Amino acid sequence: MRTLASIQRIRALGPIPDADAIQKASVLGWELVVKKGEFQVGDLVVYCEIDSLLPDRPEFEFLKSRGNRIRTIRLRGQISQGICFPLSILPAGTEISEGADVTDILGITKYEPPIPANLAGVMKGGFPSFIPKTDETRVQNLQDMLDKYVGETCFITEKLDGSSVTYYFKDGEFGVCSRNLELLETPDNSLWGEARKMNLEEKMRLAGRNLAFQGEIVGEGIQSNKYRMRGQQVFFFNVFDIDEYRYLDFEEFKAVLAEFDLTSVPILDENFSLINDIPALVELSRGRSVFFDVAREGIVFRPLTEKRDLMGRVSFKSINPDFLLKYE
Ligand code: AMP
Ligand code: MN
Repeated sequence: MRTLASIQRIRALGPIPDADAIQKASVLGWELVVKKGEFQVGDLVVYCEIDSLLPDRPEFEFLKSRGNRIRTIRLRGQISQGICFPLSILPAGTEISEGADVTDILGITKYEPPIPANLAGVMKGGFPSFIPKTDETRVQNLQDMLDKYVGETCFITEKLDGSSVTYYFKDGEFGVCSRNLELLETPDNSLWGEARKMNLEEKMRLAGRNLAFQGEIVGEGIQSNKYRMRGQQVFFFNVFDIDEYRYLDFEEFKAVLAEFDLTSVPILDENFSLINDIPALVELSRGRSVFFDVAREGIVFRPLTEKRDLMGRVSFKSINPDFLLKYE
């Protein structure tokens, strides 16, 4: 489970024009609106990032009408992303240290958009334990990682707003998974349908290598088909070597996709020297989709050669603020 709630420090507070009761706070690389006087600069708080789904508790009652979900909102013209609570919402005895992950302690989970019926399918089992689930951390949480990898050559892809799919071949078995489950083959399931269209099982059997392909399915019936596609299509962003438990580096990723005749997510830049300026990385996410003249969801950054860090895989998303305000 990714960190959604953690103990963080209020870095700065500032006024919002024409607003008396509220002010702007900076936490990590985020800006959010707080009540005036509630916090002071330097205070430790519980910060919950957007897409946190809060449990039913009296403290969170005011979020009930919003489905307990933290979204991007605009208040008096100020974009607000996330929410701060006083440390007193933590159970007694919680160890207080800056950066501590309190997601599980608070029972917070990640909001996932509902999976459309044609993708949901019939469960065969849980998600295979030998493949990581797909996920991306938000750049706003990663100042330390950016400082460490500044100057690293990265590639940038367009982040597509569809639904996650994983295809794998392991020891003679071919499998199809949605975001959190492995699925039985049923005639009306689009994830299986796409696999059949791509002849993926045959190709993977022929190759005989224990691999997983992970991508995003987009098109008709998915996330209101923002890209106005006909039918559906899968665009891949990961090739994972199951035996070695590692993602392939960018060059090998491209080569293997070509070998299997699979399409990658749109590659926007193959030679980006990483900067550690979060607002600039957010600014870079603004733009239109490659597929259709519509605000893109965002971009994903990865080093050309895979890196692992304390935080996990070095790979992160920068979400287009225009997209968040339009679609949330
Ligand atoms: P989110 O959609 O906010 O949960 O962000 C993470 C998800 O983005 C991953 O689990 C993928 O399903 C999806 N995704 C879409 N496009 C990309 C991309 N270009 N690179 C990596 N993940 C992507
Ligand atoms: Mn998504």
